[in-house]
Amino acid sequence: MDNYSFEAIRENLRVIRENIGEALVKYRSSDSTDIMAVTKTVPAEVVNLVFELGLELLGENRVQEYLSKAEFYDKKADVHFIGHLQTNKVKYIINSVSMIQSVDSLKLAQEISRLAVSSSKVMDILCEVNIGGEDSKNGVAPDELGGLLEQISSLEGVRIRGLMTIPPPSDSDISFGRMQELYSRFRDEYSMDTLSMGMTHDYAQAVKYGSTIVRIGTGLFGARSYK
Ligand SMILES: *Cc1c(COP(=O)(O)O)cnc(C)c1O
Repeated sequence: MDNYSFEAIRENLRVIRENIGEALVKYRSSDSTDIMAVTKTVPAEVVNLVFELGLELLGENRVQEYLSKAEFYDKKADVHFIGHLQTNKVKYIINSVSMIQSVDSLKLAQEISRLAVSSSKVMDILCEVNIGGEDSKNGVAPDELGGLLEQISSLEGVRIRGLMTIPPPSDSDISFGRMQELYSRFRDEYSMDTLSMGMTHDYAQAVKYGSTIVRIGTGLFGARSYK
């Protein structure tokens, strides 16, 4: 398993749980936050170690990489797609992920809807918000979110569960605060229960601002050879 070690992953997870626990106690009294293991570049046999540590939620970024590893994953794996998703690739993942977190256009939502309906299922989705307005990031602009949610909510086979974001690295606090506002603005109207934000470098801040899922790669498995 190359540079990966079960002991290191276990220790990393212990620290992450401790930090999340502290942030919860400090800012959110009796609430909770799920930990997602982000698996890009991590071999399937290493990913499978996390199930022994009580994690079940996996985040996948790349369709091809996911397809090459999926069959080796433990049966317990609950996989969310979190990377940029091209409309023509939805068909490859629609039947093996439980949520698509990276929906940022009506066109993508329509394709998810079409395929979900033809499989007689309902796909949970999050709308990805480009909270920092960065050219390099995917996601819907904050002022277009309301319109997109309204359009998606009329589609069959798609259930809006909440919002996801990757903030600019330098201003996590401001961005997370703005996401918390957006989430509380739309939560009741769309019966949302999921706010996915926070990665290795900023998950404790994300918890402070109400994150319900933190997505952690490097902090759990160690540094990647590519991003
Ligand atoms: C890679 C990635 C993460 C995890 O990033 P780390 O800094 O390694 O924790 C989280 N979310 C998305 C969408 C990612 O692509």
